Amino acid sequence: MAAEPLLDTDAAPTTSEKAAEKLEVRDYFNSTGFERWNRIYSDSDDVNKVQRNIRIGHQKTVDQVLAWLQEEGDLAGRSFCDAGCGVGSLSLPLAGLGAGSISASDLSDAMVQEAGRRAAAAGIDPARLTFHTSDLESLTGRYDTVICLDVFIHYPQAAAEEMVRHLAGLAERRLIVSFAPYTPLLALLKGIGQLFPGPSKTTRAYTLREDGIVAAAAAAGFQPLRRSLNQAPFYFSRLIAFERA
Ligand code: SAH
Repeated sequence: MAAEPLLDTDAAPTTSEKAAEKLEVRDYFNSTGFERWNRIYSDSDDVNKVQRNIRIGHQKTVDQVLAWLQEEGDLAGRSFCDAGCGVGSLSLPLAGLGAGSISASDLSDAMVQEAGRRAAAAGIDPARLTFHTSDLESLTGRYDTVICLDVFIHYPQAAAEEMVRHLAGLAERRLIVSFAPYTPLLALLKGIGQLFPGPSKTTRAYTLREDGIVAAAAAAGFQPLRRSLNQAPFYFSRLIAFERA
């Protein structure tokens, strides 16, 4: 079974292409993608070697974000937006650390339902961690910190940069994003390509140019403060914490 090609494109998509792409991503994460990622983002033994490695790499990203936030302190005094929250891999531990309020949302209703189920099972106060089904482009409001992890991989450069600008507009102080960085090392690209192995029921995976992401944040008034690169076999993710300049 051939892996989907890993795309790297700067071509600006049309509005209808963007809408179609987002619908595809939503349908995927409400069906086979939900089934797949719900297992990867869990401690289920029902994962193959690739999926287990993706789980390990993703956990490094989540742990790095939690470590940065804890270093800053005052979690109780801050509001958070977790855009594209998935099954709550970040929001649940963040709530556990005592974050003041967390608004978690995702394009996929299946992911949001599962995140809510996990939060209830963990006994998390529903007043402090709320879930909504929404694409991140429709999010409004102001949050101390806006976080968007491993979502941009589903979108080409121009769309991802637009998302960065929109999310920056919701952030008072801090914006934290992660994405698969463009790299000319084909071996790595091949590895990332296997994030979405299989036929047409999968989504495409895009690598993004970091300078473009940084420029989009800068246009919205944000400067990079911290960076880390989190990896495991089949997982490769650049994490950047921006602060309002
Ligand atoms: N951030 C989570 C989930 C990553 S998986 C984590 O790190 O654990 C990617 C998620 O992005 C999926 O749940 C998918 O439904 C969501 N997503 C994709 N496009 C989105 C969009 N335009 N708006 C909001 N969520 C989106």
